[in-house]
Amino acid sequence: MRVGYYLPPLRDFIAPATQDTPMSPSSSAISSVFHQASREARGLVEQLVRKKGESLDWVDDLRQLQEHFMDKSPQKAQRDCRSGCSACCMTVQVDITPIEAIAVRDYMKSYLDQEALQKVEQRLVHVTKRRIAQIRAQAPATPLACAMLGMDGRCQIYPARPVICSGVFSLDHYSCDEARENAQGGDYSPTVPLDNDALQATGGISGTLQRVLVEKGLDGNLYELNSAVLVALRTPNVLARYLAKEDLFRSAICTDAHSPPRKRNAPPPKFLRRQSNRSA
Ligand code: SF4
Ligand code: SF4
Repeated sequence: MRVGYYLPPLRDFIAPATQDTPMSPSSSAISSVFHQASREARGLVEQLVRKKGESLDWVDDLRQLQEHFMDKSPQKAQRDCRSGCSACCMTVQVDITPIEAIAVRDYMKSYLDQEALQKVEQRLVHVTKRRIAQIRAQAPATPLACAMLGMDGRCQIYPARPVICSGVFSLDHYSCDEARENAQGGDYSPTVPLDNDALQATGGISGTLQRVLVEKGLDGNLYELNSAVLVALRTPNVLARYLAKEDLFRSAICTDAHSPPRKRNAPPPKFLRRQSNRSA
């Protein structure tokens, strides 16, 4: 099965679990792997919210669950991804939740010195400004390399990379190169064959992460990676303040404003309305 390579198709898998849509997505594109991963992620994320532990523990636990599902994919042996292969990181726009952005920040702070952190911050500012300019100009997005991508073509935050980044596996790296070239010319047609079960598990886990955060009154919206990491890096005491429900990510680029605090005036999502009806 050939599925989309760029983020909009991946978010199509994630959105049904988070937006104002029925609890159980019924699209034929959603497989049982999506549902199983969603179910198991719920208990895990609820536990993580209760524990209020370190951000990197969140990412580690989510990654373990993700790998549990991705390891069972029938397409695992066909994956063509390799270290230093980075066309994807130079083309896609990655969306993350605030807690994942905080994990990236905490990971970088754990191994980079002040000078290196300043350089990363400059790259984050550069990419964020270009993305904002594209949005303001309403120009079609042109490919922008992720600020986390090193000169050697490797992800500099690999152990703390977002859930979405860990779940995209191409079955043909030549197609990725071709897709990148096409994107330079403005053509974002999905042309890369991906490991579909890995994608489904990732969609289920990321969607449930967003959903449980929202249910617990936390910011579970999706933000563009570079702008969200920039906010996390510049905000003192960011994890404690995020868990205390401060609205910290308002200056990041929100790519999917499905819930408060970004979507202030909208009615709560249906899944929350159903809950309050039951408890009334
Ligand atoms: S998705 Fe494509 S570009 Fe990215 S690591 Fe895999 S083969 Fe390489
Ligand atoms: S965070 Fe890492 S894996 Fe994800 S797009 Fe950026 S460089 Fe690539």
